[in-house]
Amino acid sequence: MSGIWPGDTQCVVMLGFDVDGVSSWLNRDPHFAQLPSLMSMAEYGPSVATPRILDMLDNHSIKASFYVPGYVAETHVEMVKEIARRGHEIAHHGYMHEPPATLTKEREEEVLHQGISILGDITGEAPRGYRSPSWELSEHSVDLLASHGFQYDSSLMGDDAPYTLNAGTPQSLVEIPIHWLLDDAPNFVYAPATGRLGPMRNPEEVYGTWAAEFEGLYHYGRAFTLTMHPQYIGRPGRLRMLEQLITHIRTFPNVEFMRAIDVAEMWTSP
Ligand code: ZN
Repeated sequence: MSGIWPGDTQCVVMLGFDVDGVSSWLNRDPHFAQLPSLMSMAEYGPSVATPRILDMLDNHSIKASFYVPGYVAETHVEMVKEIARRGHEIAHHGYMHEPPATLTKEREEEVLHQGISILGDITGEAPRGYRSPSWELSEHSVDLLASHGFQYDSSLMGDDAPYTLNAGTPQSLVEIPIHWLLDDAPNFVYAPATGRLGPMRNPEEVYGTWAAEFEGLYHYGRAFTLTMHPQYIGRPGRLRMLEQLITHIRTFPNVEFMRAIDVAEMWTSP
């Protein structure tokens, strides 16, 4: 072992898909439910893009992590079962995509319970990974997650490889850090009805940014963690860009594609 990873591994790649569907829009404004065009654009994520992403991952023999809000899970039970059946991780992502920073401690705990029981009922296993909607934890989140049996959080940006929060205490938790640079949303979200007019970037430009960041993280022996949303990355031209990136990454030796939960477990049991 030369760096932070076991054996010859030089870089770990974690592909994460936040299957927000309509939940993130409805949490922003429940009146959005009355906008069929916006709702259909969001619904494309779980209904059309997710099955396509699952086939693409199978073709490349990659296991990934899927962060599913409770509301999306209970309205797409078969989708969640299929994701789990194919060996991917199902992790917690709120109920109606509520950023914990916007909730009281009591409500935050209620939402945690809701997601745990909905996902647990569908897959037969309580989720052990958590990613906060909009990446906004509250000051209570880490303690709440640790005391509810979670093994990792993935909402913070304090490093570019896993690290331990509350180290040495019973409330310790692995952090799988993320970054806006490695998120599809800032590049692709364009939803005029909501006021979000993102740059709608050319996939080639995003490929360039992500490939450069991968090469840097590989050089330093860190973790490459992509956060994507089926409703954005699942458009055919963008998904082919993701496949091109996977093919590029595979040309580097000693790279492991892993689910975030497996990385978190490896981090806690050396
Ligand atoms: Zn989300």
